[in-house]
Amino acid sequence: MENGAAQPVIVAIDGPSGTGKSSTSKAVAAQLGLRYLDTGAQYRAITWWMVSNGIDIDDPSAIAAAAGKPEIVSGTDPAGPLIEVDGVDVAGPIRTQEVTAKVSAVSAVPEVRTRITELQRTIAAGAESGIVVEGRDIGTTVLPDADVKVFLTASAEARAARRSAELKGADLATTREALVRRDAADSGRTTSPLAKAGDAVEVDTTELTLAQVIECVVTLVEEKRAER
Ligand code: C5P
Repeated sequence: MENGAAQPVIVAIDGPSGTGKSSTSKAVAAQLGLRYLDTGAQYRAITWWMVSNGIDIDDPSAIAAAAGKPEIVSGTDPAGPLIEVDGVDVAGPIRTQEVTAKVSAVSAVPEVRTRITELQRTIAAGAESGIVVEGRDIGTTVLPDADVKVFLTASAEARAARRSAELKGADLATTREALVRRDAADSGRTTSPLAKAGDAVEVDTTELTLAQVIECVVTLVEEKRAER
């Protein structure tokens, strides 16, 4: 099709923690002039709100009943993605160990997923130039018609090493254990688990540098645009 490059392109990047999803997604969006959405930040934001409001994280019905209450606003600038809950900037608080340990329980609740998925689809539909959306179920559930789908993987050792470096040298074995536990919960939940879409391109990042992964995804998007 003519003028294909001007059409919005939707890129879904899924995979477990520590595969380089966020760094890759932000860089690809910045390089190609696309918007960027961190869906993990939205699940973290709703989890932060539940914790802050005394909701019992071990009670799915309490989480379900409260799922509609917080107002979550996500920015889509790859250079500085904003995340607010009820008007409060929560970019810092959503990265605490407490939120990280509790987010899988909250994100497994169907009412939470319905609410956040709706928000994600609205944001993606409003991105005129196109968007890179990163998460766990973007290619399978949120945006099954995405133009490009990528599923990033890496060995548990590599993922733990990256995460502990990010956490300024946190203990490797403890980091690995927490990461594997969270991935098992995210992959094992009934509603919209972490999974590779049948038509996603799998990229094992274990032996790749970040620059190589970015280049790989940029190439996939450019190939897709050239086909149009
Ligand atoms: O990507 P990040 O580690 O910030 O994601 C935090 C958590 O949010 C995941 O462990 C998962 O429980 C949840 N999540 C999800 N679906 C997505 C993105 C994140 O369930 N699309």
